[in-house]
Amino acid sequence: AGMFQGLSEKLQETFKRLKSKGKLTEADVNEAMREVRMALLEADVNFKVVKDFVAKVKERSIGQEVLESLSPGQQVIKIVNEEMVALMGGVSSKINISSKPPTVIMLVGLQGAGKTTHGAKLANMLKKQGKHPLLVACDIYRPAAIKQLEVLGEQIKVPVFSLGQENPVKIAAASLQHANSQGLDVVIIDTAGRLHINEELMGELREIKVSVKPHEILLVVDAMTGQDAVNVAESFHNELGVDGIILTKLDGDTRGGAALSVKAVTGCPIKFAGVGEKMDAIEPFFPERMASRILG
Ligand code: GDP
Repeated sequence: AGMFQGLSEKLQETFKRLKSKGKLTEADVNEAMREVRMALLEADVNFKVVKDFVAKVKERSIGQEVLESLSPGQQVIKIVNEEMVALMGGVSSKINISSKPPTVIMLVGLQGAGKTTHGAKLANMLKKQGKHPLLVACDIYRPAAIKQLEVLGEQIKVPVFSLGQENPVKIAAASLQHANSQGLDVVIIDTAGRLHINEELMGELREIKVSVKPHEILLVVDAMTGQDAVNVAESFHNELGVDGIILTKLDGDTRGGAALSVKAVTGCPIKFAGVGEKMDAIEPFFPERMASRILG
């Protein structure tokens, strides 16, 4: 089973039935929407998001223009597609590069979400685009996190700034001076994660934020965790303010709930998708492409 497979298969069945009918009645649309609703809920999409989504599609679909068109089934499918793209933010969102270097990117998230890996992937991607990134090791609590970042830095030939177990706020501040002195134009700060959100973690992240004034706070969340990922995103956004999301582990057997709900619930766009463990397994997130992948 691949990404969103269950959801894709169910929606395609519904679409097939819609297309096979010449004329559509309002009852046909209602029946199809009942199936779409079930498929989305089974894919772990947020309940309220599903409700709003289905209501919108239904409202647009039961108008005369659609029902009396030559291919009403196709029209309804087109509407589902458009609303799904809108749900995920519509357009692809880019990183906010500062006109005055260095651009400071702060990566936050729970332990195991893929923060350290994606810090390095992001650095690798930006390096290929001609930037000169610096990775900064501020996750001083997780054993081996500093070493992990250093190994990845070595692998992609990107410098890593670390001061061992020094206070993370100090490390972050010192890294900016280091970047300036070395002519490095993007600073990517790998912060500490915890197993659960707690006040201590948020307090530390807020202090780093105040100290380095990041141009971009990116939240790394694991797509495999479904609605939990959405709840985590909501908390981080409320407590810290998040500019964008990196949704990781989309190469796994994920159901789709996080990808389809997180923008609608938090207002934060998904900016990147993580699709594997290798350093090049990161993609800009394109809502249109994702919708096509889901709808087949
Ligand atoms: P952190 O605690 O948030 O810094 O998480 P890590 O970066 O250490 O990642 C945790 C684990 O998830 C590691 O084994 C990574 O290789 C793995 N991982 C991270 N991102 C992805 C991804 O997009 N796909 C897959 N399959 N594995 C990933």
